[in-house]
Amino acid sequence: MRSVVLFRNDLRIDDNAALTAASQSKILPVFVFDTEAFAELGGASRVWLHYSLTELQRRIKLLGGTLAIASGDTYQVLREVCEQHEISRVFLNERFDPKGRAHDVQLKQALQVHNITVVECRGNMLCHPSKPTTSQGTPFKVFTPFYKWYLSEVLADVRPEEAPTNLDFFNVDSRSEVSSLGLLPSIPWHKGILQAWTPGEKQADFILERFLDSGLRYYKENRDFPATDGVSTLSPYLHFGEVSAQRVVQSIVEEEERMGAEPGAAIHNPFIRQIVWREFSKYLLFHFPNTLSQPFNASFADFPWQYNDDLFHAWKRGLTGYPLVDAGMRELWTTGWMHNRVRMVVASFLTKHLLISWEMGAAWFMDTLVDADIANNTMGWQWVAGCGADAAPYFRVFNPILQSKKFDPDGEYIRRWVPELRTFSGSEIHEPWSRQTGTRKTLIDSGSATYPSPIVDHKEARNRALAAYDQIK
Ligand SMILES: Cc1cc2nc3c(=O)[nH]c(=O)nc-3n(C[C@H](O)[C@H](O)[C@H](O)COP(=O)(O)OP(=O)(O)OC[C@H]3O[C@@H](n4cnc5c(N)ncnc54)[C@H](O)[C@@H]3O)c2cc1C
Repeated sequence: MRSVVLFRNDLRIDDNAALTAASQSKILPVFVFDTEAFAELGGASRVWLHYSLTELQRRIKLLGGTLAIASGDTYQVLREVCEQHEISRVFLNERFDPKGRAHDVQLKQALQVHNITVVECRGNMLCHPSKPTTSQGTPFKVFTPFYKWYLSEVLADVRPEEAPTNLDFFNVDSRSEVSSLGLLPSIPWHKGILQAWTPGEKQADFILERFLDSGLRYYKENRDFPATDGVSTLSPYLHFGEVSAQRVVQSIVEEEERMGAEPGAAIHNPFIRQIVWREFSKYLLFHFPNTLSQPFNASFADFPWQYNDDLFHAWKRGLTGYPLVDAGMRELWTTGWMHNRVRMVVASFLTKHLLISWEMGAAWFMDTLVDADIANNTMGWQWVAGCGADAAPYFRVFNPILQSKKFDPDGEYIRRWVPELRTFSGSEIHEPWSRQTGTRKTLIDSGSATYPSPIVDHKEARNRALAAYDQIK
């Protein structure tokens, strides 16, 4: 029997449930760049996808197959391929985002009409999002009980599947060039992304190994400090499914036990807790799909957001005059990634200091992040903006100067991304305007630096944000 394995957000061989399930048959691996589904794919994600597909193609070739690549309507492509090559089954891994789900329901029905069966396999979550419920049978809206549910029901038994060793491919004549998808920009602005990252399953394995060797032990202490290698940087690999969440969790548990953790204790590792945040975001979007464009907390529907093109532009380009905010926004622009602590600071700055809606910030992130993920991003933005599930209260306005002093005390991270401030000492760098006389104006007048003065005053902005919040309280 012949089967198609349709790759989407699971660009790997290891622990790929659809591939394993199809492995009893002759397999045609297919990737369809669905022009409708991918219409909104951000620029950085397109770059990542190009290289990730190239790597998947290479791996499949080593196993004796060819990844057939096409663009167009997934249903049309699959129907044609299946009819042409007498294929009656399409294996794919389930998706959980609203668009992906709706697309797959239609796909299944449309192919069924032509006697092509779609076999849906385990998607890239540790647990199907329909399973966790509160004792009342309702969806969780608060993280801690959700996490406790995961500790007792999911994390103790996470079992990734080994990559099948006996894959039998059949190949078809197809124009299987990744470049035919036109994913790379015509003006090559993506040099910084290529310098920072190597997409693909092989590198995902390497990054995970490196984190197990050196980052995991200090994760709890270092994870909030952007100048350190305190986090895993696995997010784009997890997003594109170049490594599975199962494989990551199992590797952490094994490493912790190797280092002496008592049986059962390793699942409490703080890093695994973050993986559960990832699960929580997908879970929330599965149950509350309207939160893509509406605040989870309905009282924010009337929040008096403001819009100012100049301020938004300054934020996007890292020209706000607040060094930590600017360092983060420039890191994002250059590499397609930003540290989680800094994501929180820049998102708070946009939604509270500038009163610009979280949706504007979320859209910018979706375009510029290599790990742009509709669930994580929506939850992250709503959480910081104060309108999300289990969110930080709106009145908790991050002070970008104190955050900078606390989490980048020596200014190492700032100096890396804001070259104008390279000569500033650790104590001066958080408030560069105070270098000479303590007034912001002096710095600008002196002409000694091209770094901008703050676009808003922290205290004034904070008061304005709280006044806006008072209107909907
Ligand atoms: C405003 C905002 C927007 C965000 N947008 C995205 C996004 O588009 N894509 C994305 O993957 N993450 C997003 N995050 C979550 C988080 O910032 C990133 O997952 C993290 O910075 C990725 O780096 P890492 O892999 O080194 O994380 P690590 O600390 O090493 O964590 C390991 C993994 O756990 C998951 N994780 C960690 N923190 C979170 C979190 N707070 N929420 C959900 N999952 C988490 C990620 O999959 C991550 O790769 C956003 C956070 C905020 C505040």
